[in-house]
Amino acid sequence: MSKVIISVNNLVKHYGQFEAVKGISFDVLEGEIFGLLGPNGAGKSTTLEIIETLRDKTAGQITVDGLDLDRQPNEIKKIIGVQLQTSGFYPGLNLMELIDLFAGLYNRTVDARELLKSVNLEDKAKNKYKELSGGQKQRFSIATTLINQPRIIFLDEPTTGLDPQARRNLWDLILHIRQQGTTVIITTHYMDEAEILCDRIAIIDSGKIIALDTPDKLIDDLVATGFERPKEVKKANLEDVFINLTGHKLREG
Ligand code: ADP
Repeated sequence: MSKVIISVNNLVKHYGQFEAVKGISFDVLEGEIFGLLGPNGAGKSTTLEIIETLRDKTAGQITVDGLDLDRQPNEIKKIIGVQLQTSGFYPGLNLMELIDLFAGLYNRTVDARELLKSVNLEDKAKNKYKELSGGQKQRFSIATTLINQPRIIFLDEPTTGLDPQARRNLWDLILHIRQQGTTVIITTHYMDEAEILCDRIAIIDSGKIIALDTPDKLIDDLVATGFERPKEVKKANLEDVFINLTGHKLREG
């Protein structure tokens, strides 16, 4: 049985009169990829930002790797990796310089070239952020979460807007990061992605968790109710056609 690395208990968040998060509880296990799914406005970002210590909560208890969010937020900051706002990517600096800058902010020394290599961006070390393709930008953003060698990383819709090849490439990267022992919390609107990547998912709707389990179990539960897809499922889908025609190789230069 894996150890609980994040524990959220009865988390509530009010924005003025509006209750965005309505007393949710869940645990994330060490080494898993945990997905937070839900329609826009469900409360996913609010929940993540509270755990990331970036936003105040209204009520509830949270512990991250045994650290209490109320009493040890700075200790929590040291062991988590958060995607930095792109506005912090100073336009005049190249990728190596940006990593060195962020490492300095974390009070760490990092082998910037090695880190870029780990996200397959060693060829772009001397390029500016704005010169990267969409997939490369996302890979760089993920690299910035790894600078402080965190135990847990938070990825907010990391594959939104990417082409199928770049998405698959990012899945491999996320699986690789998990393989190194890092716990991953991810939000996505792509259900195929959640099914492939996530060990467990929580579905949030209107500030409440309405389901939490492995993708397999959630699908089995639905099938057990007698649910059937209205259309006979073909042995391939349009994405398979696209990948088959254009190949798996990344297209970005
Ligand atoms: P999600 O990430 O699931 O799309 P959010 O956590 O961003 O959802 O938002 C949940 C709800 O809280 C939404 O109705 C949103 O409009 C509201 N909300 C988010 N941030 C603020 C804020 N700073 N002030 C007021 N309302 C907010």
